[in-house]
Amino acid sequence: MNAKLDSAMTTRPVTRQTFDEVLVPTYAPAAMVPVRAAGLDLWDQHGKHYLDFTSGIAVSSLGHCNPTLVAALTTQLNNIWHLGNGYTNEPVLRLALALTEATFADRAFFCNSGAEANEGALKLARKYAHTKFGPHKSRIISCLSSFHGRTLFTVSVGGQPKYTEGFEPLPQEINHIPYNDIAAARAAIGDDVAAVIVEPIQGEGGVIPGDAAYLQALRELCDQTGALLIFDEVQSGVGRTGALYAYMDKGVTPDILTTAKALGNGYPIGAMLTTNEIAAHFGVGSHGTTYGGNPLAATVALNVIEMINQPAFLARVKVASEQIFANLRKLAADFPQVFGEVRGSGLLIGLPLAPAFKGRAKDVTKAAEALGLMLLIAGPDVIRFAPALIVTDAQIAEADRILRAAVQGMLETAPAK
Ligand SMILES: *Cc1c(COP(=O)(O)O)cnc(C)c1O
Repeated sequence: MNAKLDSAMTTRPVTRQTFDEVLVPTYAPAAMVPVRAAGLDLWDQHGKHYLDFTSGIAVSSLGHCNPTLVAALTTQLNNIWHLGNGYTNEPVLRLALALTEATFADRAFFCNSGAEANEGALKLARKYAHTKFGPHKSRIISCLSSFHGRTLFTVSVGGQPKYTEGFEPLPQEINHIPYNDIAAARAAIGDDVAAVIVEPIQGEGGVIPGDAAYLQALRELCDQTGALLIFDEVQSGVGRTGALYAYMDKGVTPDILTTAKALGNGYPIGAMLTTNEIAAHFGVGSHGTTYGGNPLAATVALNVIEMINQPAFLARVKVASEQIFANLRKLAADFPQVFGEVRGSGLLIGLPLAPAFKGRAKDVTKAAEALGLMLLIAGPDVIRFAPALIVTDAQIAEADRILRAAVQGMLETAPAK
């Protein structure tokens, strides 16, 4: 008997400890293991309840196990799962129609994650520039503190050196400029630039909204130099800011937009959206992925877009946002030694820590988790709130209550140094 196979069949219990034994240690997950969830409610292995204000990092925007999505996916599971790109399928055609009708774009390319959507966007921009202007036009401009994914190309384009250390040699001709700095953009964007990639609101970098004037300046610089403007809306898209895509509220239209995370509500899918003219440079055989536009993922995403892209739904996101902003402003005023000034857009909200609590974002989220509230961090100094967009007034009040108690408890047990 094969011992390895045999042990795989055993009913050895799995715990958080198992992670440390058999997973590649790229993550440091929380001590509790979630087993079941519905809406914003979640339960761990021991039956303890949590209010989820993370949405799996701005992914499950329609809540866990959304009944409409469960029904649509179940129907599709009994129709057809997968075909490969030798065939198209009805869900992906419908999804592409929905996305191109709802946005500036004429065309969509589907993949499985945000990194892949950006990888496709960056490759397309290089291909477009090389074909149209020549190989000298290959430089990519990106922002410091930006995050664009974990493939080698996307970490190199991302503005966080800690994610490229040790992975050299890196892809070439990539420069980073400070975010929201128009003068730096003007100095950096010359005739050899193929693409400028930017998050309309930096998520991982600390929840920092892009100024409309800055994004507008990038648009003008790209128009002047023939560079393509790529908006990475992997985190800001699909209703998160109260617009279907953040660019719609900023009044600046990109040439390429990438979207993932909430597009599948937890079912993996990513997409790159662009115009006819640019898409024409990705001819047959130039790019691809086995699962991209798979009927299961496309079915979920189509239903997600149909539910979120409703004026009343998006208006509610803004109302919920105002309530959370008001609560956090009050919290920061009550605990000025702990918190700085709340910032963000829609339901992507950052609460930075005051100097005395620098580096302790994880301590705050741990204290909240112990009391049953799941929160995110955005770097070591910022608490990030990204609840499902269906969050209710009662859940907003409950999160406020728990967070206050957590902060109070933290001050009693581990006050600032
Ligand atoms: C999460 C994220 C990505 C990467 O998406 P993955 O699905 O993890 O590959 C890229 N860009 C931004 C802005 C993100 O927030």
